Amino acid sequence: MTSEFGLIERYFVGRQPSRPDVVLAAGDDCALVEVPAGYQVAISTDSVVAGTHFLANADPAAIAHKALASNLSDLAAMGATPAWVSLALTLPNVDEAWLSRFCDAFFALADQHQLQLIGGDTTKGPLAITLTVQGLVPVGQALRRSGASVGDGIYVTGSLGEAKAGLDVILHPDQHRETEAQTLVDAHYFSEPRVAIGQALRGLASAAIDISDGLIADLGHILERSQCGAKINISQLPISASLAQFLRERSRALQYALTSGEEYELCFTAAADHDTAVMAIAQSLSVPITRIGEITQTGQIELHDDGAALDWQLTGFDHFKDENNE
Ligand code: ADP
Ligand code: MG
Repeated sequence: MTSEFGLIERYFVGRQPSRPDVVLAAGDDCALVEVPAGYQVAISTDSVVAGTHFLANADPAAIAHKALASNLSDLAAMGATPAWVSLALTLPNVDEAWLSRFCDAFFALADQHQLQLIGGDTTKGPLAITLTVQGLVPVGQALRRSGASVGDGIYVTGSLGEAKAGLDVILHPDQHRETEAQTLVDAHYFSEPRVAIGQALRGLASAAIDISDGLIADLGHILERSQCGAKINISQLPISASLAQFLRERSRALQYALTSGEEYELCFTAAADHDTAVMAIAQSLSVPITRIGEITQTGQIELHDDGAALDWQLTGFDHFKDENNE
């Protein structure tokens, strides 16, 4: 039986090159890092729990990627550059094959973003992963939810809806034999956090958020913080060919795009005179950015289909919704 320390040493220590700003990584009571002059630290924590965010028997590589991608996505939404991460891992037992796959995927994604694991905690219990990521952003330049104003364009990165369709396949694998099914499952687990876009949007975007609970819910957070409304043209929503093919009906695909959570795409607003610069970012980073509507005065989200009003009642995902409604 491997001890806790043996486990940490074997799987988590010395797996990455040390960043110059890390004075002391895992091994002491705290990690020590140095914040460069002129920068602020953006910090975010996210947990994923077996049975809530993934099935306990899911591929450990998928779990690791999803857990870290969701945290990196929060840094992206603030325009921060990833720097450090802490990992609190709760495991029901020590399964070395599981840990090995988990760590390979975790460090592959972390290395891609020069994100260094600087510490954590390892405990026994129902499978859960809690990450705290920290990123650097020049003083005063973080993208917040509160800066949208009337007339700003509303944009999203990538395409929307695949994560929800992927979950349909994961939960009902026997019902889905379509060729798109695997593409959608991969989209669910292996999203690519929009870190480079978030940084490029510093000074351009007036507000930003990442889509974790669905476009309607997350855009709603921007509107609430910015005290404004939005008009969305559903015919502009970016929908992949795989999703359209899988769902067949246009209205279903659009509803998935509006409500699918765990997309980890960015939704942001920018003044009209920044539109050309925003599109140039999409071009230079080879990631689609689509203008889907604009900020209005009313405190609501109005949906229209190329001018024809819609009265769809849609909400995003809320872990505690059922309890609140009781
Ligand atoms: P303490 O009892 O002081 O909290 P721990 O025994 O929990 O110390 O951890 C010992 C060291 O190992 C600490 O530096 C901690 O940050 C690190 N560590 C523990 N678990 C992990 C992990 N899963 N990944 C990375 N570092 C870890
Ligand atoms: Mg500890």
